[in-house]
Amino acid sequence: MKLLKSVPELDHRATIGEAICPYCGVGCRLWAEAAYGTVLRVKGVADAAANLGGICAKGALLPQVIHPPDRLTQPQIRPRRGDDFRPASWDQALAFIKQRLLQTLSVHGPEAVAFYGSGQLDTEATYLAVKLFKGYLRTNNTDSNSRLCMASAVAGYVTSLGSDGPPTCYEDINHADLVLIIGSNMVEAHPVTFDRIKARRTNEGGQPFVVVIDPRRTKTAEQADLHVPLAPGSDVALFNLVARRLLDAGEIDAGFVDSKTEGFSEFAQGLRDCDDAALASEVDVDPATLDALVARIAGARAMLSFYCMGLGQSTAGVAKHNALINLHLLTGNIGKAGAGPFSLTGQPNAMGGRESGLLAHQLPGYRFVDDPRHRQEIEQLWQLPEGTVSPRRGLTAVEMFRGLESGKLRAIWIAATNPAASLPDLHQVRRALGRAELVIVQDVYHPTETTRFADVLLPVANWAEKEGTTTNSERMVSFSERLIDPPGVARPDWEIIAHVARALGLPSFDYADREAVWDEYCRATTGRPCDMSGITAERLRRERHLQWPCPTADHPGTKRRYLDGVFPTSTGRARFVFHATLQPKEPIDREFPLVLTSGRIYAHWHTLTRTGKSDKLLKRDPNPYVEIHPSDARRIGVEDGQLISIQSRRGTIRLPARVSETLRPGLLFAPFHWGDLWGEDRAINYLTIAALDPQSNQPELKYCAVAVEAAVHCDNGLADRDASEIHSAGGFFRWLHPEGSGSRIRSDT
Ligand code: SF4
Repeated sequence: MKLLKSVPELDHRATIGEAICPYCGVGCRLWAEAAYGTVLRVKGVADAAANLGGICAKGALLPQVIHPPDRLTQPQIRPRRGDDFRPASWDQALAFIKQRLLQTLSVHGPEAVAFYGSGQLDTEATYLAVKLFKGYLRTNNTDSNSRLCMASAVAGYVTSLGSDGPPTCYEDINHADLVLIIGSNMVEAHPVTFDRIKARRTNEGGQPFVVVIDPRRTKTAEQADLHVPLAPGSDVALFNLVARRLLDAGEIDAGFVDSKTEGFSEFAQGLRDCDDAALASEVDVDPATLDALVARIAGARAMLSFYCMGLGQSTAGVAKHNALINLHLLTGNIGKAGAGPFSLTGQPNAMGGRESGLLAHQLPGYRFVDDPRHRQEIEQLWQLPEGTVSPRRGLTAVEMFRGLESGKLRAIWIAATNPAASLPDLHQVRRALGRAELVIVQDVYHPTETTRFADVLLPVANWAEKEGTTTNSERMVSFSERLIDPPGVARPDWEIIAHVARALGLPSFDYADREAVWDEYCRATTGRPCDMSGITAERLRRERHLQWPCPTADHPGTKRRYLDGVFPTSTGRARFVFHATLQPKEPIDREFPLVLTSGRIYAHWHTLTRTGKSDKLLKRDPNPYVEIHPSDARRIGVEDGQLISIQSRRGTIRLPARVSETLRPGLLFAPFHWGDLWGEDRAINYLTIAALDPQSNQPELKYCAVAVEAAVHCDNGLADRDASEIHSAGGFFRWLHPEGSGSRIRSDT
């Protein structure tokens, strides 16, 4: 282990270093103190651009979750799915994977294998996974759980501005006079960024004015100056309505529109063809609130909009992003300090995965598989014959699991994610994993809901046990130090991928160290919008973080993009993209008359694999629940705390009710964090729909139709127990149909 700084007052083994928080996309830089083989405490780094010393409870409690009893410390194999796992050496695990992967490839061809990763993998790992699958195995079947949260933001940026990647930075909070927060509960999901807004409002007399656009009166909405509680799914209607009124009132930046954009005439015509009253009816917000929103945008000198999965997790996700960016273009609120669209990422390296080409349609450096020039550039970098990289888009997240169920896909390698809890329509996911011929799972923990289906488990070095590079929401590329040794024979993700590649007989994966991987990846970005040529591993180790584009070794990095008004489109102009309003895939009806939406809560993150190991976080938010409006609760005769049975076309679950006026009548909200590991009939994703946005393939996790009734009894004995009690009791991990047949016993039948 490398000693970073000696700390005599602790002991000779103590180290102090800086690492990036492994949770959300704020990308807080943490100062960590480690000794005795573990991390003792962390705090925010005062001069870190992302957090200015701030940190939330999840980050502060990281020392609690370093060495839980379910750490995976050694590879494990089972020749048949029904058998128990047996510990194995790395050589045995690699030989097993080689034999099974080569068998699948030789019988079914390259399109029968896939890699499903996440925004928790560092960029070195995502780059190598892309190189292995897209370059050497000749399939574009790599995707990421970022498909579930950011794919529509990616497509929105590309179609409107010509390139993925936000043009903004956190410092813009200091320059904006209007902040829109749309489909994002920042107070709970990105708390340190919201704290910056709050701090400025405290210090500068309430500036900036904050508008929250959300069907729920979230904790974020409670702190806003104006809350716009639009009808679920009506975002495009709202943005079109606002744009039309701005246009009618002449409240647009005509100079910017004329000189920096294209497509305005078609956009304006599209708006004129809309029926104002129909849009207002769809949005269903009182007229005074709408007028106030329009007036605020019209009067804004610098408008900054933060948004998250409330926009993206929709079959109209790309349309929603385009419609919001249209407002920025119409008012000239982009390419200047304090202004621009700013997508918030939910994971520490969702951006890095996008930049390195992990999504099924991409190649490294914001290139695309369907562009012959892009394929050729990457083939040259990887010294592969021309024509090696397939021009066909690979399978995206949901498509992979459909492919496993249908037999189109035979083998899947899952890394740093838990799809058996996080994907929509979990019955389908369980069927798919049950039918897969080979499931490789690379993770820090076992069991998870997904490792249950694995044939081989590969142990990974956790946060603080490895070096790595990530990009946060504001394009800040950061280096994370290794502070302690990984337990057992766990290894960094990039090393595991390189080892598997070499086991398959591919010498191009023989890297001296992580820095060699990073520097090769940086060369793949040269001349691209996300140019990181100047962010060498050596420089990053010294300077800790730099924002791309950063094309040369002496470039200081780029806080804001498009300051020159030139966009990376073929004409150099940003594009207005008009969409008429689009309905959700599964509208409510007589049989399923309520809308179910889901989201994050403060204490937890993703599927509880990490936060579920912290007593303090569990104490704060111990149980799953469903929020229901008092009028809906009355109708089914349920009071606060009583169990509700919730049915969709895909399944039934039961959760305790939280009766709350923060919702619109007809809307339910449940956190998505709890999976089967925490008790049966609790996972919200048994209900959600796997309908996809046609452009981004992001699923509509924020909207499905459900029915509710009071749950008369509970025969699994879990629903009324505290989740932390259930977890520590163990033994509940009861699988009624071990091979994932999809049928589950429902206690309300
Ligand atoms: S969870 Fe997010 S906000 Fe909290 S410390 Fe980590 S990166 Fe910062």
